[in-house]
Amino acid sequence: MSGVTLERVTKTFSQVHALDDVSLEIVSGELVALLGPSGCGKTTLLRSVAGLEEPTSGRILIGGRDVTGVPTRERPIGMVFQSYALFPNLTVRQNISFPLEVRHRPPAEIRERVAELLEIVRLGPQADRYPHQISGGQAQRCALGRALAPSPEVLLLDEPLSALDALVRTRLRDEIRRIQQLVKTTAIYVTHDQSEAMAIADRVAVMNHGRVEQVAAPPALYEEPATEFAATFVGSRNALELPIADGRIGLGAAFSIAAPAASRERAIAFFRPEDVQVAVGSMGHPAVVEMKIFLGPTTRLHLATAVGDRTARLHADMPSRAAAHLEEGSVVAVRVDPQHVRAFPVDA
Ligand code: ATP
Repeated sequence: MSGVTLERVTKTFSQVHALDDVSLEIVSGELVALLGPSGCGKTTLLRSVAGLEEPTSGRILIGGRDVTGVPTRERPIGMVFQSYALFPNLTVRQNISFPLEVRHRPPAEIRERVAELLEIVRLGPQADRYPHQISGGQAQRCALGRALAPSPEVLLLDEPLSALDALVRTRLRDEIRRIQQLVKTTAIYVTHDQSEAMAIADRVAVMNHGRVEQVAAPPALYEEPATEFAATFVGSRNALELPIADGRIGLGAAFSIAAPAASRERAIAFFRPEDVQVAVGSMGHPAVVEMKIFLGPTTRLHLATAVGDRTARLHADMPSRAAAHLEEGSVVAVRVDPQHVRAFPVDA
C-alpha cells in the first residue's frame, strides 16, 4: 500500500488552468473523493495521477516515489471509468484475468487470483458471461475486479456510478467502499455528487476552478465549510447577505454573530434549513410562510422575511407532523442557533 502526494501541481491547456497549484496528501489506505462542479479539474487531477496527463509543473509521488514522468503502464495504479470499458469479446472471467495475462503471470497464480476476485466482486455466477449478458452494476463490478487484479497500490475511480440508475448507484457505492476497505488499497474517487462523496470517502477534497478549496472528513466538511464555495456546494444552505453593525451581523431576533474578520460593510451568513427553528407566537424574527413542500418525514417551508428594507427568502425544514398546523400565509417566528451560522466576507 502507498500514499499519493501531489506537490504544487499545475496543468494548463492553452489558456485554461485546469489545475492551479494543487497540493494534496492522500495517506496509504485512504479513500479521498474529489468533489466539485463540472470543469473544476477533478478528472485532470485523476488523469495526472494515472499518467494520462503530464503536469505543466509540480510533482506527483506514489509511495514516496516520484512518478511525474513515468508512463501510465509503469505506474502502480488501477482505473475504473464511468463507461466500464470492458472488452466485449471476453467473458467476465477473461476480463478480470486480462491484466495478469499481459503481465505473463503463471497460469496457476492467475486462476487463483481470478477466483479470489470473482468472490470479492461477487460475480462468481456470472463469470462465464459476456459484457452484453450482464447488468450495468455487474459490468462495473467486473471493471473493478479487473482494475484490482494486479494488486495496484492506488485505485483511481472516475465517476464510476454515473451511468447507473439510482438504486443500483447506492448499492454499488457501498460495495465499492466494502471492497476498498477489504483490499486496503489507497483510492481516489471523482464525483460531482456531494452525497456520494460524503457516503464513500474518508476525506473529501472540494475543488473549484482548478484549486483544492478544502480537504476534510465528511462531518467536518458538512458542519464547518472553510470557504464560501464549500458552504454553497456542500449541503443546501440559506445564504443571507447582511450589513455589519458594531462588528456583528444578524437577522433581528433570529441570530447575531461576530462579522468575519476580513469583512468591511457586508458579509454573507450561511445556515442549513434544518437549523432554522420555526415557532408560532414566540421569540424570534417574523417570517411569512409562502409555501410548504411535503418531503415525507420533513416538510420544507419557504419563508419570506424582512432584512432591513429588503425581503429575503429562507428555507426551513421541520418535522412534517409539527408543520401540519402551519398554513401558507401564516406568520411565524424564526431563530437560528448562532453556532450553526457560518459567515464569509462579501468580496471587497
Ligand atoms: P467534469 O465533471 O465535467 O468531467 P472536471 O471537473 O472533471 O469536469 P476537467 O475535465 O478536469 O474537469 O477539466 C478542467 C478544465 O480543463 C475544463 O475547463 C476543461 O474544459 C479543460 N480541459 C480538460 N481537458 C482539456 C483538454 N484536453 N484540452 C483543453 N482543455 C481541457
